[in-house]
Amino acid sequence: MSNSPLANWNGEQMPLDEVQVSVLDRGFLFGDAVYEVIRVYNGKPFLFEEHIQRLDRNLAELRIAADARQIADRTLETLQASGLAEALIYIQVTRGAGPRMHRFPDPPLSPNILVFAKEFPDPYAAAREQGVRAWLTEDLRWKRCDIKSVNLLANCLAAQEAYESGCTEALFVEPDGALTEGSHTSLFGVRDGAVLTAPLGENILPGITRGLVLNLAEQAGIPVHEELLKRDRLNELDELFLTGTTSEVMPVVEVLSSQRSEQSVPDGSITIGSGQRGPVVERLQAEYRVRVEG
Ligand code: PLP
Repeated sequence: MSNSPLANWNGEQMPLDEVQVSVLDRGFLFGDAVYEVIRVYNGKPFLFEEHIQRLDRNLAELRIAADARQIADRTLETLQASGLAEALIYIQVTRGAGPRMHRFPDPPLSPNILVFAKEFPDPYAAAREQGVRAWLTEDLRWKRCDIKSVNLLANCLAAQEAYESGCTEALFVEPDGALTEGSHTSLFGVRDGAVLTAPLGENILPGITRGLVLNLAEQAGIPVHEELLKRDRLNELDELFLTGTTSEVMPVVEVLSSQRSEQSVPDGSITIGSGQRGPVVERLQAEYRVRVEG
């Protein structure tokens, strides 16, 4: 038996390390592809319908003719065949492989559809209690960050910069000082008991976890304001946190930036609130667990 995660490649089940893709695939050549990442708890995909609906919207945005419902069926089959309980599912759909040209080939290519399920022994449990450090960086991404495309070069560069600075996540800063989101997470603040996060738009991904956490906050009676966080107002926040499919609800206790460019973060570092996980994060984490277990 192979140790490789179980994959489904264009409808055929096989070990992930046996999947072969053409070098003329437009995902490989141009990043002409969309993807999803779904968390599996106790054998059940969490917020599955929400992820499939986002995939469907992204396929439509890029005019890739793949059927999200069929992909959903393949995903559930793959998960079941894998027998995994704590897992991550990765889905990627590219426009397909064909002669290299910028415009879409005509007639349309057959999309390449990859699904795989891999074990996920959650590595973030301690970080969710202790909190993490985040790194401010310029947002170099394209103007349609609401589409979950595999064009993640700017996200990768930002994440590497954060890692080299001893931080867990990079936070994107716009030229006007607005903080939009992380390299692979949504960003929230807490001020005077209210939860703040950037309004949806073309500059952020509509995070599935973001949507859930906003609902959980409202149900818990915590006021929510869709309002941009600002670099020069970080010192007014009581709490700062990230959300994402693998991060869940992750407190940020310190924000760092390069001293050269950020006068507004004293000495290149600012402690958020008490420097420890705060009560709003703790409450949202508890509500999140209730949802997972329900
Ligand atoms: N923002 C960006 C840029 C992301 O890449 C991700 C996830 O990969 C998120 C936010 C969080 O989204 P979700 O909650 O759907 O995982």
